[in-house]
Parts: sequence; C-alpha cells; structure tokens
Amino acid sequence: MAQRANRGRATGTARREDSKEAKGKGPVGGFWTEERGRKLRSVVHRLATARLGGAKREPDVYVTSTLPVQGQTVAVFVSLAKPRTPFGWVQRSLCTFAHDSLVCVTFDGKPVPSYPVKRSKTKRNYPIYRALIPTTPADPPGERVLEVRVLDGCFRPMKIPCTIQKQAFGTQHIWLGKDKSGLLADRRRKWKKEDSMVRAWQHLETREQMWDGPFIAPSDGVITTQYGQQRYYNGKFAENYFHKGLDYGADKGAAVSSPAAGRVVLVGKEDRGFKLHGNCIGLDHGQGVASMFMHLDEVRVKVGSRVSKGQTLGTIGDTGIATGPHLHWGLFVHGSCVDPYVWMNKSKGHRLLF
Ligand SMILES: [Zn+2]
Repeated sequence: MAQRANRGRATGTARREDSKEAKGKGPVGGFWTEERGRKLRSVVHRLATARLGGAKREPDVYVTSTLPVQGQTVAVFVSLAKPRTPFGWVQRSLCTFAHDSLVCVTFDGKPVPSYPVKRSKTKRNYPIYRALIPTTPADPPGERVLEVRVLDGCFRPMKIPCTIQKQAFGTQHIWLGKDKSGLLADRRRKWKKEDSMVRAWQHLETREQMWDGPFIAPSDGVITTQYGQQRYYNGKFAENYFHKGLDYGADKGAAVSSPAAGRVVLVGKEDRGFKLHGNCIGLDHGQGVASMFMHLDEVRVKVGSRVSKGQTLGTIGDTGIATGPHLHWGLFVHGSCVDPYVWMNKSKGHRLLF
C-alpha cells in the first residue's frame, strides 16, 4: 500500500515540477524524496507485520502428510481466524492489499508458493491458503522442516517436522536401436532448445485453480511403466534418472483425454523439432500444477484453449523417443515431477484434499 501511495505522490511531485518549469520558475525539490518514500514504506511494513497482542496464537495448519513417500505431493492448509484487535484488522488489511498471499510457507528453507482456496469449497468466512509441496525420487529420504509464517503479525511462526520416506521404485531395462539410442546420448547437447521450451511452461504459476476434484486417467490403456521407475539403457544404468510420469500402453489412435481442467500452453510437433517428446501437449492446471502428454499421434487442441476434465486432447502414437505406441503423462507441481497417483486419490493413505 505504501508503495502505491508513494508512487502517486511521486508522480504528483513530478507534475508540479513540470508546471513550475513551464512557468519559468525552475525545478523545486518535492517533500516526497525517494529516501522519505523508502522510510515510510519500511515503517508501514514493520507496523503491518509487527507481532503484537494476539501474536501468541498459532494459525490453524493442516498437513495432508508429515511422512510423505518420495514422489508424494503434500498439501498444507493454513486457515486464518479473525484478528482479535482493531490493530490486528489494520495489519490484515494492509497485508492483504500489499501481498498476493498472507502466508509464507517454506520447506527445507525453500519458499513454496501458497494460494487462497476458493471460498465456496471451504464454506468458511475466513481465508484459507494452500501450499503444495512436491517431492520426487531425487529428494533423499530424511528429515525436513516445514515452516509456516503469517505476514500480518497476528500469529507466531510454526515449525512442523516432516520426514520424506524412501519409496521402492522398480527398475526397467530398455534396449534402443542405434538411431534412437544415439538421440538419447546427444540429448543434453543437441536438444537443449526442446528441453528448455518444455521446461519453461512447467514452472508456470497461474493464480487461478482450474482443476476441480481428483484427476482422472488420461487413457483407457494399461499402465506399462510406473512413476519413478529407474532405467538401464542398453544395459547401462541411467544415473540421476527416474521415470517422470506414467506410461499407458494402447493402440495407435486411441483417445487421450484431459485428466483435469486446464489451459493448453504448449503444442509441440515432431516435425518442428520435438524429436524426444514427439507430438506433445502441455496443460496448465493453475497454481503451479501442470501436465505433459508425450508421443501423441494426433493433437486436437490449440495453444490458449481451455479444456475440461475428460475432453479429448489427441490420440496415442509413437512419435519422439518411443519403443511403441503409448502415452506418457507427466504431472508437475512447481516444476517438479510428482506421482500422479496421489492426485487421482488412488494412493492408499496418501490422499490429497481438493
Ligand atoms: Zn514414459
């Protein structure tokens, strides 16, 4: 708020100076200098975030699992009860105005974005924020600290211990012909552009939550490769590799449908440089959640279009690096590839709340 007020003042001063210059009286320094603006901003910020009065309280925090297995997405819900003092209300209003989210969540010291949960879903009249924490097979098992801070100073920070548990992922042996194994070996060097194009949208942070309820399977085919599986290519163990998604085996031409509502943000074609992913589609589900569909035959959607849950996106194929017709579905949370099972509510004891 301070920032906006100050910006208003600054332009006001500039305008006054202009008019004075126009009258030939020369420039006059305004009362609102850069330095004063900065000081005011920091005073307002300190007031808005000062922990006074009600600061002995802790916010209501619900964590879907403090013992996640590798690959699991953890949801952290933070609900903020009404401030107890008039000053608390002032603080909350200032912070709501100045920040997108009142809640700061860090996991192992790294910030995790949080977004307000739709009110119709919560049926409560105070705000609830949710942070989604991705874990992957690349995260070593062990203890982590989840920290929740509320900006408006009405609550004290909370530290919640979590432990990432080891998940037993299978291994798979893949034998590729000379042409395709050559592609794989050259991946980092030759296909940097393709990789960076795909990676860019996987890190999208859109405020709107487009998905609603558990995700559904994007194909009727059988799962041929599970999430997290490790691989040997032509007998050689692929270091730092894990299968970033689920593979569904089905006949070429079988439908691929959207597991949840979203917006198409990427359509890649094999004949336009997508040699690894083949014909592929990237979907943004909002709030840092994204899906990737690879090796398609036909693509039936365009970049920018909104899709609903169950809508046909294209058909199964074997474009890009594929040993046969199959769909590869990768699910990403803040750019990390997570196990889709939790999102489909199929993982026993590890359910995500929607
Ligand atoms: Zn795959």
